[in-house]
Amino acid sequence: MFQPGQMMDRPLLISGIIEHAAAQFGSVDVVSRETHGPLFRYTYADCAVRSRQLANALKALGLGPGSAVGSIAWNNHRHLEAYFAVSGSGMVMHTCNPRLQAQQLVYIINHADDEVVLFDTTFAPLVKGIAAHCPKVKAWVCLSDGDNTVAVDGVANVLCYEDLIAAHDDRFDWPDFDERTGAALCYTSGTTGHPKGVLYSHRAIVLNALSGCLPGVMSLSPKDTVLPVVPMFHINAWCIPYGAPIAGARLVLPGPRLDGASLHELMEAERVTVTAGVPIIWLGLLQHVEQHGLRFSTMRRTTVGGSAMPAALIAKFAEKYGVEVRHGWGMTETTAVATIGCLTPENELLPPAEQHAIVARQGKSLFGVEIKVVDENGATLPRDGTSQGELLVRGQWIASGYYKGEASPLVDGWFPTGDIATIEPGGIMQIRDRTKDVIKTGGEWISSIDLENAAMGHPDVAMAAVIGVKHPKWEERPLLFIVRRPGQSLGKDEILAFLSERVAKWWVPDDVVFVESLPVGGTGKVQKAELRKQYDGVFS
Ligand code: AMP
Repeated sequence: MFQPGQMMDRPLLISGIIEHAAAQFGSVDVVSRETHGPLFRYTYADCAVRSRQLANALKALGLGPGSAVGSIAWNNHRHLEAYFAVSGSGMVMHTCNPRLQAQQLVYIINHADDEVVLFDTTFAPLVKGIAAHCPKVKAWVCLSDGDNTVAVDGVANVLCYEDLIAAHDDRFDWPDFDERTGAALCYTSGTTGHPKGVLYSHRAIVLNALSGCLPGVMSLSPKDTVLPVVPMFHINAWCIPYGAPIAGARLVLPGPRLDGASLHELMEAERVTVTAGVPIIWLGLLQHVEQHGLRFSTMRRTTVGGSAMPAALIAKFAEKYGVEVRHGWGMTETTAVATIGCLTPENELLPPAEQHAIVARQGKSLFGVEIKVVDENGATLPRDGTSQGELLVRGQWIASGYYKGEASPLVDGWFPTGDIATIEPGGIMQIRDRTKDVIKTGGEWISSIDLENAAMGHPDVAMAAVIGVKHPKWEERPLLFIVRRPGQSLGKDEILAFLSERVAKWWVPDDVVFVESLPVGGTGKVQKAELRKQYDGVFS
């Protein structure tokens, strides 16, 4: 007979995070870049006060448990207050990716039943275009003060955030409820069909945020100042807005300024020790730092994910700037980070190139998440580092279905990710490709990620992408796109010769296209579907 434990049954709720921070780290700073430019600075105690005011304001607007509040906003302090006020009140914080097409935004706002939408002034033109198509939205709240709130042409129900909360009491009794209640909602980018909603529970978010603070993950503590460049509008900014107040770390929010110069300036001015972002943002940052001969005086670690971090960038961070890269993997359906790498003392005895190669893999699953790879019949493949198949995950912060979705996506209780991966005997997972991006040639597979990684190793390459293009004999052949580093004149023969020394002969791309830039989507990924559309048939 099982014995019931005799511990208190306190739910894991998001309101508990901000109240903990206010009580234990009340004087710790939150620094936020206002959309109109200046830095705003307050503490976790102030953040708690204003979150409670917002909770009262939303209640006064007639919202209650289960209501949804949308946001179209940058990483800033008002967005942070909404994270706590909305979920803490038992409502659903629906973060919208502003880079979705207007009709997709309309779709998700209606599908989520958003009753209030919070927006930054940057996105006023977007609101103007969609408001008429979102009849359930009672109020569009501009995340600004009275001086900077913008009128939106043709939209009557626009409120100013500061005016809205000023009128309300800073005391609010956060309700207690089941920790499995929905807290936040994020839609997949949806390159085909409608975006699909993932409804995160309080429990999932709190568990993930706690795990993110672990030394082998992001390592957040009161000693740290963390700057999440990953957007609060996508996958909960990897739960850093929850993890930092749990850990008592200072939190720096970059607002709309995500270019290399602004980020570097902010990191230095605020003595940032930990950052998190997608590789493309770090490319811009490193380019700026290199061009201007700058250093990172306080940054020690960066967590990178969202797409594969090339070994060449890992090497640059580590060797030139003394910054440790923690490379993680996750997706909208996994709340935030699901796997991450961390070098062991044994790894650190290896030559640098071998260490970087380990970091370039996507690491081990966090406690709370299990991973496996399966073949096309669903049979589990060995953890031998070479058998590749679809990656399946399950765990406490993995989606079990889609919001208002009918069919369960699960296969025997596991979530199929659509990523192709290998797992080593020690548990390190490596993403080889997306199922739809892998290049099928002569009955074999070429990993576009591995090819891009190899191309990025050339010093004249700023960015690389590889797609499979239909081929009359081989089914598909790789086509390489290169963005040269400024001032470089790298040619086709040179890059192909470079690659043929690094990959199997049959992997070497059939052609190279030099471009000024690559199409990058709202979550920092190269939009290969667009490239495929444009270059379909070049080998026919
Ligand atoms: P999204 O749901 O838009 O965040 O996209 C999730 C997808 O991004 C995953 O299924 C992967 O294909 C890709 N991804 C995320 N992290 C990595 C990584 N570290 N390396 C390679 N691909 C990644």
